[in-house]
Amino acid sequence: MSVSNILISACLLGRPVRYDGKGKPLVHPAIDRWKAEGRLVAFCPEQAGGLSTPRPPAEIEGGATGEDVIEGRASVIEKTGRDVSQAFVEGGRKAVDFARAHGCAYALLIDGSPSCGSGFIYDGSFSGGRHPGLGVTAALLRRAGIEVFSDREIEALAARLAEGT
Ligand code: SF4
Repeated sequence: MSVSNILISACLLGRPVRYDGKGKPLVHPAIDRWKAEGRLVAFCPEQAGGLSTPRPPAEIEGGATGEDVIEGRASVIEKTGRDVSQAFVEGGRKAVDFARAHGCAYALLIDGSPSCGSGFIYDGSFSGGRHPGLGVTAALLRRAGIEVFSDREIEALAARLAEGT
């Protein structure tokens, strides 16, 4: 039986790819286990979309979601005012291609990011306001049929994998 791999936000493995040039490692026994099994495939969509590190923080404008960005109804805006929607969509599409090429049926993504968020995202005001919604990459992965879990749902992902489906 083939075993699915897991696409993981590179910052969750501690890679220094975040806007502030840091990682945000997720410490959990399941991470160690999946790492040992060679199932984790790290990817940073914002870097893949051509953005540099460090970079200004970005949020999806006006309380909109990644779905709105994909459909051209909203933009991702850096705190400087630069529109980086194209880079976010490009990075998300590359994440889908990468996941498919590496046999990932699942993705474990850090919550809150305008790319990787899946439970919540920030509202575009850069004041800490947040609302439920998907980031651009999380939305594109879901559209592609890849099951997305946030870092807060790692137990649920472990249980899903234990089902052996
Ligand atoms: S785009 Fe995703 S993987 Fe890259 S730094 Fe942001 S949250 Fe981490």
